[in-house]
Amino acid sequence: MVAPTAGPYTEWGTIGDQLSELLKLPVLVENDAAAAALGEFWSRRVSREQSFGCVYLSTGIGAGMVFGGALFRGASFDAGELGHLSIAYDGRPCPCGNQGCVERYASMTASVDTARAHPALAARLRLDGSVSSAYDTLARAAVSGDPDAFGVIEDAAGYLSVAVTSMVNLLDLGRIVLTGPGVAVAGSIYARRLRSHLARTAHARSRHEVQVELSAQPRNAAGIGAAALVVQASIAPGHTPGMR
Ligand SMILES: [Zn+2]
Repeated sequence: MVAPTAGPYTEWGTIGDQLSELLKLPVLVENDAAAAALGEFWSRRVSREQSFGCVYLSTGIGAGMVFGGALFRGASFDAGELGHLSIAYDGRPCPCGNQGCVERYASMTASVDTARAHPALAARLRLDGSVSSAYDTLARAAVSGDPDAFGVIEDAAGYLSVAVTSMVNLLDLGRIVLTGPGVAVAGSIYARRLRSHLARTAHARSRHEVQVELSAQPRNAAGIGAAALVVQASIAPGHTPGMR
């Protein structure tokens, strides 16, 4: 089972216990970005020796890291909150309490907000409706050559690249997969920007390349990862805490 957002460990436990009781089945609870990372790790046959990370772009931004074949979960299942990595100490305030969180600049929500504040673009694309549908309209326009739409996505990719470089440098990652609904249409724009940014800024660039790949199933990555989680729990139970 994949929970849509992270929360205190006690809440995760409660969700798992309640579902397990209702379904009369064992239940696993995992963050969407972390599950996506595990799914990509398995489907790509990533070496256990490789430090592997996944960036999950959605209405927020998350990340998952797999080291030695196991998800890194942190002290309370809250590891990978890439969206709340600040890229500006006096930047936009975030509900999390910090300022300049990259999620406030590069998430699907942020890009839609930026596009809606651009009168000509908003009028041309008619960006009403949900964030998801407005973002898909914006992303399609960006890849179809609308210069204003491309500018919004390219800027978001630039902000995201700064944050991902920090993640790469902190963990010395060797391979990154971009996934989530935010890269389903315009993923090539994000991947190109991230590759060029890392080639100039990754601290370990003289020692190894940081591979940047796009998910083959970005909209379904979390669900596929949830299935991988169940498989891993059955063959490597030590890597999957919290089985209920
Ligand atoms: Zn934040």
